[in-house]
Amino acid sequence: MKKTLRTIMMVLIIVSLSACAMEESGDKEPINSSSPSERQSQPDTKNKPDDDFNEKQDSEDQSPDNTQNGDQTSVDENQNQTGEQNNSNPSNQENNDSSGSANAAPKDVVDDHTSVEAVINKQRQLPSGYKPSDLTVPEVPFYFEQFLPKKQMREEAASHLENLFSAASKQGLDLVAASGYRSYERQKQIYQSNVEAYGEERANQFSAQPGHSEHQTGLAMDVTVAQVSFKLVQEFGNTDEGDWLANHAHNYGFIIRYPKGKEDITGYNYEPWHLRYVGKEAATEIYNHKQTLEEYFGLVPEE
Ligand SMILES: [Zn+2]
Repeated sequence: MKKTLRTIMMVLIIVSLSACAMEESGDKEPINSSSPSERQSQPDTKNKPDDDFNEKQDSEDQSPDNTQNGDQTSVDENQNQTGEQNNSNPSNQENNDSSGSANAAPKDVVDDHTSVEAVINKQRQLPSGYKPSDLTVPEVPFYFEQFLPKKQMREEAASHLENLFSAASKQGLDLVAASGYRSYERQKQIYQSNVEAYGEERANQFSAQPGHSEHQTGLAMDVTVAQVSFKLVQEFGNTDEGDWLANHAHNYGFIIRYPKGKEDITGYNYEPWHLRYVGKEAATEIYNHKQTLEEYFGLVPEE
């Protein structure tokens, strides 16, 4: 009898230990396949979706095939010690500006990477050491309980996100936050583990180089909803929540950063879940003109 009890205890301990290990490695090594069938074979995905799966779905961690070429090369070329060169070289930006915008006179691009209007994309990167000084956890529902750095946003963005969530909630919409701030180091780990697992060439097809993720600004938040199993998938755009966001997020200073049909301009696939705080004025103008942040600043790639 005692022996049986001990055996049961041992089994329980082993099970709980391996569950912990899974969560740990899940957060640190997002190199698993994004295939839904593989994901389903993992335990505990019903209540708590796999972080890695979600983050891999966010193409800020990826480089969609169709936008792959050229960009990665120029990233390598621009990858100086700090990465600040790219942000602080006015002549480069003026060249980009000359391509112009269809709808409105483009604004002067903001070179201060701490500005809420900072443009971070495949051409423009953040300094490697940059971490916003005012990160905080917005009081909104998350799909996971525990504290993780990705719960954070910069203060101004966080308080506006709270307003957005509360307005959505009054409409009976149940948004859930999934992923906000992501450090340069974390992005580097993600990228490097992908290089180790798949080789550099293949990793470059879906994993962004560190410094180029908008999540490092602390101004982005990926959101989702139970209807799509808390995944970051394009179907989110067809939900009531996704539809409401597309038409109301600007009232709270947010834009859908990677809209449908603008893939060539943003460099990313359509991401109805990726909210970027830019302030109400810019967000409203971008919404009214059906623009992207690039177009707003006249940073449209030359054809
Ligand atoms: Zn995102």
